[in-house]
Amino acid sequence: MTETNDGGCQCGRIRYRVRGAPNNTTTCHCTQCRMAAGAAFVTWSEFPAEMVTFTGERPQFYRSSDTAERGFCPSCGTTLTFCYLDGADIDISTATLDNPGVFPPEDHLWVDSKVSWVNINDGLPQYPRMRGSD
Ligand SMILES: [Zn+2]
Ligand SMILES: [Zn+2]
Repeated sequence: MTETNDGGCQCGRIRYRVRGAPNNTTTCHCTQCRMAAGAAFVTWSEFPAEMVTFTGERPQFYRSSDTAERGFCPSCGTTLTFCYLDGADIDISTATLDNPGVFPPEDHLWVDSKVSWVNINDGLPQYPRMRGSD
């Protein structure tokens, strides 16, 4: 049986379930993630879209660029998802899982945009922008 993990927003109105392991988990330091979450960086776990199910109400979506939208709870504002409009995957904000420890990040993206007082010392690969950039 495939492992499942549940998560949701701060007020509990939005709940979701993910099946299986993510394609990847990454910590993103880009400006858009920073603004969306009101936090210095956001860790995302990317799943094939069909592995993510909203078990109650659906999030509200904000079109954060021409190519992507971000899901959040309209009641409490928790940042929940990121996905490209033409993509087959959906990123879940790892910290909104009931047990965020199950999916540790594997690398850091957009380190060029990192907040100056964030010190990365976990030994994971760092990329200036997208994965594989140098
Ligand atoms: Zn909420
Ligand atoms: Zn980002």
